[in-house]
Amino acid sequence: MDPAHSERFHISLKTPAGELSTSVEVPTNFIPITAIVPLTRRLGEEATALEEAQIQDAGEHVSCQKGCAACCRMLVPVSPPEAFALKTMVDALPDERRKILLGRLSQARARLQETGILARLTAVVESDRPMTDEDMEPINRDYYALRMACPFLEEEICSIYEDRPAACRELLVTTPADLCDDLVNNPVRPLPTPMRVGTVLALLWSELKGTAPTLIPLPIAFDWVEQHAIDGHSTWRGTELLEQMLGNVWRMLEQEFANRATSHATPKP
Ligand code: SF4
Repeated sequence: MDPAHSERFHISLKTPAGELSTSVEVPTNFIPITAIVPLTRRLGEEATALEEAQIQDAGEHVSCQKGCAACCRMLVPVSPPEAFALKTMVDALPDERRKILLGRLSQARARLQETGILARLTAVVESDRPMTDEDMEPINRDYYALRMACPFLEEEICSIYEDRPAACRELLVTTPADLCDDLVNNPVRPLPTPMRVGTVLALLWSELKGTAPTLIPLPIAFDWVEQHAIDGHSTWRGTELLEQMLGNVWRMLEQEFANRATSHATPKP
């Protein structure tokens, strides 16, 4: 990053698992929305690392390992900034590689079309009201019932590991890996996620564009990008994007503290 057009910030965030303290370099000039994605993901990963350290102190550990891709059969939600970033990454790949990935995405779409899931997904994404868990729960179940591998999965390994969406980074479990064979019916215990990066970025995008917050299912993310191609060219001052993104992070962490306080205060049946 050009030091003449960037500024260093120290960020300190109180998370339920401890203090997150880090420094970031942010461009002071105008940048596209994709430029804020890596930095936001980094904050999310640091917050998750604090959660992981906390459960280790309690004698537990995360059981996810390379080569286990049970969760890569679930529907992955991506925020609009991540959808643009993913499309930019795939567009920059060598022709042959890009064709393979686009071919797999189109096979996934075809399968979803056959099963009627595509129309349901598109209707939720295109509605101009905020997406709710109630909207997505039945679709997520039907999608998972297909056990369709993510188009980016190769030999049970993520082929876009460094660029994978935040939702994939955040799904970590502390229960034995074999329980992930059936994520719906088995008592799988996820690592708490204090800061959902996809939601932070979706809120940021909705504030910038004045639209309802939305998360886009991965198999139709590139269709969404094509429909919103003009928005992909917008730019904002980097420091303003950082400030606005952090506002969403603070609100989310506050909510997370409140949720955990309520769940600890609620007597278990
Ligand atoms: S993007 Fe990678 S980690 Fe995420 S579901 Fe697909 S293969 Fe799995």
